[in-house]
Amino acid sequence: MAHALADGRRSILVVDRREPVRGSTLASTAMIQHEIDIPLHRLAGMIGEEKARRAWRRSARAVEQLTHIVSDTGISCGFERKKTLFLAGDAYGRRALHTEVEARHAAGIAADFLAAADLSSTFSIDRTAAILSDISASGNPAQMAAGILRASAGQGVEIASPLEITDMRSTPQGVFLATATGALLSARHVVFCSGYEFLEAVANKDHAIVSTWALATPPATKLPDWLGDCIVWEGADPYLYFRRTRDGRLIAGGEDEESEDAYASPRKLKSKTRTIRRKLEALLDISLPEPDHIWAAPFGTTRTGLPLIGRVPGHENVFAVMGFGGNGITFSQIAAEIVSADIAGHGDADADLFALTRGKT
Ligand SMILES: Cc1cc2nc3c(=O)[nH]c(=O)nc-3n(C[C@H](O)[C@H](O)[C@H](O)COP(=O)(O)OP(=O)(O)OC[C@H]3O[C@@H](n4cnc5c(N)ncnc54)[C@H](O)[C@@H]3O)c2cc1C
Repeated sequence: MAHALADGRRSILVVDRREPVRGSTLASTAMIQHEIDIPLHRLAGMIGEEKARRAWRRSARAVEQLTHIVSDTGISCGFERKKTLFLAGDAYGRRALHTEVEARHAAGIAADFLAAADLSSTFSIDRTAAILSDISASGNPAQMAAGILRASAGQGVEIASPLEITDMRSTPQGVFLATATGALLSARHVVFCSGYEFLEAVANKDHAIVSTWALATPPATKLPDWLGDCIVWEGADPYLYFRRTRDGRLIAGGEDEESEDAYASPRKLKSKTRTIRRKLEALLDISLPEPDHIWAAPFGTTRTGLPLIGRVPGHENVFAVMGFGGNGITFSQIAAEIVSADIAGHGDADADLFALTRGKT
């Protein structure tokens, strides 16, 4: 979704600047995790213990909130609560995972440490340790987004798509947006939720774009039964993550590269997805069929793994949300709460964690 505008009487949601392409693949692998890319104990070293705990707790709360939203609005998107299995890897080994579990307990976040023997007997995975936790979910991201758009339209939100926003000016009289068709939009508040693309005025130097790759096997792929309850990722660099869909596909991704355009290389698409498949086969000790789909995409990240959410400095009543990393679904819920609280005038106690100006005061 791109921009939500409110002029006091109505809201307009500009969803996409392009026409939808038939048969195109949605990038998200739709693991709805409370676990931020940077483990809690490590994040505490970067931004302080109190802030890191708040960020992790807020992320866990966002998954709970999403669960309520999907259930309250009756969106049919195969939404299921899942456990998360976080495996030790070359970036975070057994000792780091032990420290991490202690840090999560101290923050009031439930998590179980699994030693190598437990991991092997329950999951038949050969790693030095893992963390098993609740508070995650999965679902079909296209159905979920469509359901939320339908529910918003039902509440009077006007949807405009495709429509490209080409420029923005904020003035004491309101915010003005230029569109590619030559029309002007005016609004009291503008929120840019434009993913990894943004206008120059909204750019933030803490935001970086990386490339990532993913694959999906055919339905009814033969997989371990426990994958029905668990989504999995590993403490490695680059990391591997995967989940099973309701119709039995294995969706997996990873092999991220710090490059804005590596995702566009057909050669890398082949080699990266071959590596993902090989790593899955070795980890799960199974043989996988040729993937039905392979794809690559850019996405926005930050050094701390925390998204950027809040007012754009120097532009009154303009907000931006970006840098969602691998947790776009969870973080977009946090963004919706923080931005709407700000517009409503009552603020949010965690807004400082995600502010575009964080670390500058
Ligand atoms: C391969 C891959 C796997 C992922 N897996 C997961 C996962 O498992 N779980 C998870 O939570 N997240 C995942 N993510 C991250 C997640 O997909 C993103 O964080 C999320 O899509 C961001 O949502 P968004 O609405 O902010 O931006 P986007 O989904 O990028 O949407 C932005 C929209 O804004 C439009 N737009 C941009 N500029 C303009 C403009 N000037 N005018 C009009 N419209 C404009 C774009 O056309 C686009 O439609 C994954 C990402 C990738 C690439």
